[in-house]
Amino acid sequence: MAEKKRKRAQTEAALKDRGNLFDIAIQQVNVAADAVNLDKDVRAILSQPKNEVIVNFPVRMDNKKWKIFKGYRVQHNNLLGPYKGGMRYHHEANLDEMKALAAWMTYKSALHDIPFGGGKGGVKFDPRQHSVSELEKITRRFTHSLGSNIGPEWDIPAPDVGTNSQTMVWMMDTYMNMVGQTVKNSVKHVVTGKSVTSGGSYGRQEATGTGLVHCISHWAEEKGFNLDGCTFIVQGFGNVGSFTARLLSKMGAVLVGTGDAGGYIGNPEGVNPYKLGEHVAATGTVAGYRGAKEISREDFFGLEADIFIPAALELEIGEAEAEALTCKLVAEGANGPTYPAAEKIMEKKGIDVIPDILANSGGVIVSYFEWLQNKRSERWDAERVAERLAKLMKETYNNTNTFMQRNGVNRRTACYGIGLKRLQTSYEERGIFP
Ligand code: NAD
Repeated sequence: MAEKKRKRAQTEAALKDRGNLFDIAIQQVNVAADAVNLDKDVRAILSQPKNEVIVNFPVRMDNKKWKIFKGYRVQHNNLLGPYKGGMRYHHEANLDEMKALAAWMTYKSALHDIPFGGGKGGVKFDPRQHSVSELEKITRRFTHSLGSNIGPEWDIPAPDVGTNSQTMVWMMDTYMNMVGQTVKNSVKHVVTGKSVTSGGSYGRQEATGTGLVHCISHWAEEKGFNLDGCTFIVQGFGNVGSFTARLLSKMGAVLVGTGDAGGYIGNPEGVNPYKLGEHVAATGTVAGYRGAKEISREDFFGLEADIFIPAALELEIGEAEAEALTCKLVAEGANGPTYPAAEKIMEKKGIDVIPDILANSGGVIVSYFEWLQNKRSERWDAERVAERLAKLMKETYNNTNTFMQRNGVNRRTACYGIGLKRLQTSYEERGIFP
């Protein structure tokens, strides 16, 4: 009982303070750095971001009052290509979180061998409390404040929590108008995740969910596990969670529970993710959906299900949640959802983990395709995007298997190990300037 209480207190404290996220990211990377005997100088370089930009900027609200906002852009590493990573709008956004998320982007790109580095940014505010016109003004003023700290060959933002294709289109349009008439059409690739009509790629909106489902399918094939008729739960029903749920349900898997910032719901008979999507579009939350029962966060983690997809925020799986989980697989849609101590518990319970930098990489992969299309003034059809995404996900998934077998490590360490080796080789070849 006392132990249960301690774990609950730990989870509650963790949920309140996600400030140590960067330390956790470093811990995860260090395990892999040891496994690949990473050079100590390379380790030192990667243990801090290259640049940390903070901007404070005023915006005139609908009521004509001025309000000051704090924005971030952390650029972790650009050895393998321009900084790349999402922009998050969230009231708890902070520098440590951005540093961790930026570092994970470096390893994600390096893992897949796509020519990007890692960055992350955003603005500390709750977008749900603002009108569309205020969101547009905040986005445009933020982009202007960042100025040349972003750029199509320098640092390329994308959507993340609280932002979407509309946010990216406002960012692109603002940036295009900052660089001058004659070159504006050559800088569309300053952001990815745009709507298709404004220069985005087919398949980008659903890319992260698609990549996640590819990983789950490869895992199922490997284990001889039948996805048709299996059950799953999803935490977070935004871009990543909702697309993953729809795609899995198309394969016959049954959604038995989900939750978001508004509450949690469950139904052992199954929840229709399409109808739930309509409810979320209308109300902003899964709470109140008629086709399921309201449950607590604690009940959600204890639901009987074969697969769990965290697709909300980081550090949602503490020790108590890991103990409660009944699943065979955790496929991390969210970035950094799992505490290292929780992962140890899951390992002991025989729960497999497909880690974030592999599982949720479909987004950055299709962002890369979008960037290439913009640079070449091309438009790829949906089939070409889908095929290339599937091919790269499969190759990387298989590479992680090989690395795991050769080095006797888990999949998370294998993912970091592959990325770290690529970065180390490049540092060895290039040296440091001067
Ligand atoms: P989103 O804003 O579309 O959705 C976020 C979801 O999380 C919403 O349903 C929200 O209600 C829920 N949520 C927020 N706070 C919560 C809380 N305290 N408890 C429970 N649920 C909560 O964001 P998204 O783009 O789907 O991103 C989700 C995760 O996936 C994030 O970790 C993000 O970094 C990661 N990710 C996103 C992409 C992408 O392409 N969008 C790519 C890779 C990784």
